[in-house]
Amino acid sequence: MYVGARIELLGRYLEFPVIYKYRHRLRAGDNSWAGGGAGIVVIKPLGDLFLRFLKMIVMPLIFFTLVLGSASIDPKKLGKAGDLVIVIYVITSFIAATIGLSIGLAVHPGAGFKLPGVTYKPPKPVNFIQTMLSWIPTNPFGALAEFKVIPTIIFALFVGISLAYLRTSNDERVREAAETTYKVFDALSEVMYRIVRFVLEVAPYGVFAHMAVVIGKTGVALFIPYLKLIGSEVLGIALQIGLVYTGILLIAGINPAKFFRAAVEPMVTAFVTGSSSGTLPVTMRIAEEKLGIDRGLYSFTLPLGATINMDGTAIYMTLVAVFAADIVGRTLSFGELVTVATAAVMASVGAAGAPSAGLIMLTVTLGSVGLPFEVIPLIAGIDVILDMLRTMNNVTGDLTVTTAIAKKYGLIDFSKGVWASS
Ligand code: ASP
Repeated sequence: MYVGARIELLGRYLEFPVIYKYRHRLRAGDNSWAGGGAGIVVIKPLGDLFLRFLKMIVMPLIFFTLVLGSASIDPKKLGKAGDLVIVIYVITSFIAATIGLSIGLAVHPGAGFKLPGVTYKPPKPVNFIQTMLSWIPTNPFGALAEFKVIPTIIFALFVGISLAYLRTSNDERVREAAETTYKVFDALSEVMYRIVRFVLEVAPYGVFAHMAVVIGKTGVALFIPYLKLIGSEVLGIALQIGLVYTGILLIAGINPAKFFRAAVEPMVTAFVTGSSSGTLPVTMRIAEEKLGIDRGLYSFTLPLGATINMDGTAIYMTLVAVFAADIVGRTLSFGELVTVATAAVMASVGAAGAPSAGLIMLTVTLGSVGLPFEVIPLIAGIDVILDMLRTMNNVTGDLTVTTAIAKKYGLIDFSKGVWASS
């Protein structure tokens, strides 16, 4: 009975949302600072353990999930409208990454804060052409083993896209083999997500230890950088929605006011749940009932968008990269900025549409130019706010692009929903 009760308690604990655990541990972190000061450093190994878990998972996670993601697109079913949606998803993500970088470089959210104990060795400067060339791995397995993020991403995309074509081959033998390979990648990706769940489960302790050590040494100096980071993300998202999405709608000949009247429900749902995938049923219902979009289009583009199109996440990742560079006192070169933007877009493609998935994928963006992962537990404390905001942006992006393309191909019924009302 006693053991049974304990197991039940553990089960209840595991079901409890991770984000509340963060909050709890953070408060504990603050108290330990007040009581223990710099002596709290004894718990540092717990924080280091969390960082090692993050590093352990990142390369296999990128490889398996990106192969699976790119192999999931059926090239024969895409059609012109589907093709265009994917192209615009990628373009808007790059615009988002550029907005994030620009705001980051203007505001420098981490300026003035030094992360204790993090020594940083800047890499050798390389020119832009060399940087781009170095993205193509001469030895893909070497790239994976040596923690080279972008070359690994590029190779994963090659494997995934080739697999997507082979899955629709006319040769039955090839098709079956490709299908089996696809299922293996599917299973391996699930295994990776399972490990991520474990890492997220232990994250609150690692974050607590890390925060306690940092706050113990630096006091509350982090408060201003936090505020700057949140403010920068709000500004980035406002620009992405107010300028980029509104611009796309206007170019497509859609009335933005009517669009946003319909979109507000999925936007609020995304904000509250912090999950694009969780919001999907709401987004799809609104596309059908309020925006009158053809089901053949949205049933493909919205689930795809919830997985690969995360503009808010791209803004967040680039901002955090500048934040990290500020903290270690480093100026990113032009080539590195391009690398960060590309890595952020790829990481946003690879991130699952789940709460705080982007926090783990920060490893990809930071790893692409050798920025310290110690920033991740530092951000975790405020990730709940950043996540709500970016998820709202992510969902709005999917719906905007889908609506604009639907208009272009005559796939909207203007007698329905918001279009019919004045
Ligand atoms: N929570 C985000 C989403 O579901 C992903 C992320 O963490 O960036 O869209």
